[in-house]
Amino acid sequence: MLSVKTKSVRCKAKQTARLGPILLLTAAACGGGGDGAAAGREAAAAKPERFRALVFTKTTGFRHDSIPQGVAAIRELGRRHAFSVDTTENAARFDRRRLARYDVVIFLQTTGTPIRRSKQRRAFEQFIRAGGGFVGVHAASDTRGRWPWYERLVGARFKRHDPGTSERPVEVVDRRTRATRKLPATWTRTDEWYEFRSRPRAHVLAQLDESRPLAWCHRYDGGRSVYTAMGHTQSSYAEPLFAAHLLGAIEMAAGRGSFNCEG
Ligand SMILES: [Zn+2]
Repeated sequence: MLSVKTKSVRCKAKQTARLGPILLLTAAACGGGGDGAAAGREAAAAKPERFRALVFTKTTGFRHDSIPQGVAAIRELGRRHAFSVDTTENAARFDRRRLARYDVVIFLQTTGTPIRRSKQRRAFEQFIRAGGGFVGVHAASDTRGRWPWYERLVGARFKRHDPGTSERPVEVVDRRTRATRKLPATWTRTDEWYEFRSRPRAHVLAQLDESRPLAWCHRYDGGRSVYTAMGHTQSSYAEPLFAAHLLGAIEMAAGRGSFNCEG
């Protein structure tokens, strides 16, 4: 790991391998970039990069029209809070070598069977077992394709949602974590409200009521997992409190700050 980080993930990984740990890249020294690299570059220009995130948005089922807003919001969080953000719709990015560059992988509104090949699934499992972080947002629990490991990583599988969107009071049951510390005890907001096939085997952070958990976290198979069922609407990503929730979830999963998700 570099102590001074000035470039995008892709560029840096390449240069690090070549030049070793003592390295100060200038912006001109490494062009190109690609999907998501620009945001990380801007963040790095301001302060040292704290960690690296990959945002995965592949869908083979329903596709939420809020994906672009979600990606933009996470890029902005990366810029402001000094973590790099790469984005992809390509499951081929799930190989051991590439995933090893990241601290956290965010499944943003993935649906259906976004990762079909067993080699790619094994690579992601290996990433988690090596201490990696996972954040699932909203439809990330709406997964098919017989991958029980992934369902356990998320914590529960989507069953249904209430019709349309509506404003509801969310009960924030644990306000001590990074994902919830900025939230009020009763957080009233508009979303599409999920129900799950089973109660998550995880530490619940927020819920509609006892029977309707909405956000949770747990340690799983050597890694850290944080899931939020919220984030259906485009406007979610413009809400400062939802952005704070998302940021905290990403930081927790990335292993920055405490991870109080026992019990
Ligand atoms: Zn939805």
